[in-house]
Amino acid sequence: MRATVMYGAGDVRIENVPDPKILEPTDAVIRVTRACVCGSDLWPYQKMERSDTGRVMGHEAIGVVEDVGADVRRIKRGDFVIMPFAFSDGTCAFCHDGLQTSCIHGGFFGTPDVAGAQAEAVRIPLADGTLFRLGVHADDALMPSLLTLSDVMGTGHHAAIIGKVAPGKSVAVVGDGAVGLCGVIAAKRLGAEQIIILGRHADRIALAKDFGATDVVSERGDEAVERIRALTGGYGVHSVLECVGLEEAVNTAISIARPGGAVGRVGVPQEQTIPGSEPAFYNNVTVGGGPAPVRAYIEDLLPDVLEGNIEPGRVFDRTVGVDGVPDGYRAMNDREAIKVMIKP
Ligand SMILES: [Zn+2]
Repeated sequence: MRATVMYGAGDVRIENVPDPKILEPTDAVIRVTRACVCGSDLWPYQKMERSDTGRVMGHEAIGVVEDVGADVRRIKRGDFVIMPFAFSDGTCAFCHDGLQTSCIHGGFFGTPDVAGAQAEAVRIPLADGTLFRLGVHADDALMPSLLTLSDVMGTGHHAAIIGKVAPGKSVAVVGDGAVGLCGVIAAKRLGAEQIIILGRHADRIALAKDFGATDVVSERGDEAVERIRALTGGYGVHSVLECVGLEEAVNTAISIARPGGAVGRVGVPQEQTIPGSEPAFYNNVTVGGGPAPVRAYIEDLLPDVLEGNIEPGRVFDRTVGVDGVPDGYRAMNDREAIKVMIKP
């Protein structure tokens, strides 16, 4: 089959690789019907050290089950499924707590150990725990939004949950990538009254407004902090969704939370330490977050997707075949595309 292999920064190739097959009796193999490029794939695209073997990329997909191992009970051949970006057994203490990204037997797709989904097919470890089975083979028009449940919509929702978004509250979303835009959807869905998006790309801002953003702040650093204070009666916002991961973004996020507020971090951190220690401490700001347990959130979010109440699939503004994936990485890295969908 054809798959996306990254060999180093800026070096993404489409290659023929062996078809995935069942290695463990708890595995399944799915034929990928939609996958995509993630903002977090751009970190290795910018920084990955050269590798001779390369890494099959991709951690977001929906597809149809082609094969299951002997111990797979719940998932059947022919099922139409969502693949969350992390695999999990569904049975350990953390899975029971709804934190499948900390599953003691779990891990992540598109890593050096487990091949990713920017390919024609992908092997799913712990298929019964990992895959979310959709009852119906959904309408084509819904596919983009269903695909976002494998990562970006669940991740934006996680930022909103950890940031304690609630009805009537003020929210700021740091980052206008797909996760930030889904964070706007999540904040609106949870009843936020004021939703401030921090971003500077016209196409993304327009989409954020469609999704429910009430204010736009295009400044950065201290100027952004000042503008947000001015928009919130001088206090800052109740909830901040940090969807970037760079030091400046985290610093801004903590600085714009009002006393007693909360910051939900979902941007993959690019530094070893969390900045903003003093404002976080003196303002009693709760700082939390991490890899979103999107597996747990699919059940919450799916009805709103199926009923058309939310349309997170609108973050996709380009669709490519497998051969178009390297240019998809380039387009997202150059901020020419918000998010690229792959239709193998
Ligand atoms: Zn588990």
